[in-house]
Amino acid sequence: MRITVLAGGIGGARFLRGLRAHLASSHPGAEITVIGNTGDDIWVHGLRVCPDLDSIMYTLGGGISEERGWGRDGETFVVKDELAGYGVEPTWFGLGDKDLATHLVRTQSLAAGFTLSEVTAALCEHWNPGVLLLPMSDDRAETHVIVDDQSGAVDDEGRPLRHAIHFQEWWIRYRAAIPAHGFVLVGGESATPAPGVLAAIAEADVVLLPPSNPVVSIGTILQVGGIADALRATTAPVVGVSPIVAGAPVRGMADACLAAIGVDTTAGAVARHYGGRASGGFLDAWLVDGRDAAVVDAVESAGIACRAAPMMMTDVEATAAMAAECLALAADVRTGP
Ligand code: GDP
Ligand code: CA
Repeated sequence: MRITVLAGGIGGARFLRGLRAHLASSHPGAEITVIGNTGDDIWVHGLRVCPDLDSIMYTLGGGISEERGWGRDGETFVVKDELAGYGVEPTWFGLGDKDLATHLVRTQSLAAGFTLSEVTAALCEHWNPGVLLLPMSDDRAETHVIVDDQSGAVDDEGRPLRHAIHFQEWWIRYRAAIPAHGFVLVGGESATPAPGVLAAIAEADVVLLPPSNPVVSIGTILQVGGIADALRATTAPVVGVSPIVAGAPVRGMADACLAAIGVDTTAGAVARHYGGRASGGFLDAWLVDGRDAAVVDAVESAGIACRAAPMMMTDVEATAAMAAECLALAADVRTGP
């Protein structure tokens, strides 16, 4: 069985850990390909940082900080403090000492002419995540957020000036607390899928969307040329898990992202945003938490099979059970009711 997963950072990584555990007992030999979001990527202090790819690599490789959910376990921040002493920006981005090794290897390899796919494969040889981790694209395409100028500057007509800041500045420095007027994937117009990405969607037996941010993780991957079309065209069932439970994100600020694109923060609204196949979307089935059982009928009337079950990734066992639900629902939509 070939399973392809489109993933952001923490939510994607935790789901993958459960999926891998479920498959180890139910389908040994199953192959997981992950298409990772690289819209969060950023140059910091001369280093190329890929937060979502690293979250997946560290989580599946056993090196993640379980408390923070991102970065290395047993991390120290000596270099970050030294840099702050020099007063160099950005001071708000958390570069840990162990984490730095990854960024050094990546940056050096990119400078030597290797593609991000090749560099990611080399890093994964060390971490051994048990999945094939592909960046969505080898091209530089970074999410920016349109916000009001924070200095209070206004235009000739007294309206606040707007400008674009890097996604990481909005998410980490401002904790998504300044309203986003929209998101722009700078470089996205010309970015092409990394080698293997389109084939992984076309040739999959099942495509899964873990509980990842629908706007700045999954939504970003969908903007890379050809990926959304490949999802619409694949014969594999596409099954997603809602990252919204009981009208709120489980962690993070997905509500601020959804508000910016005019989608309600509900499990049902996110499914309708992706859309069922009959209405030009790509979603065959959607899983919501038991607390959202009330949205099941509305999602089904949008042409998307929907089930409610526990959808909290509290530990690997609970997450493996979620993955099992996804695959059971995929089998149902493939064979029909
Ligand atoms: P990021 O790149 O680190 O922000 O991670 P993702 O893009 O993968 O998105 C994390 C999303 O997963 C957030 O919108 C959370 O609300 C959602 N999430 C986190 N933990 C859980 C969970 O246990 N259950 C569900 N259903 N969603 C979760
Ligand atoms: Ca992310």
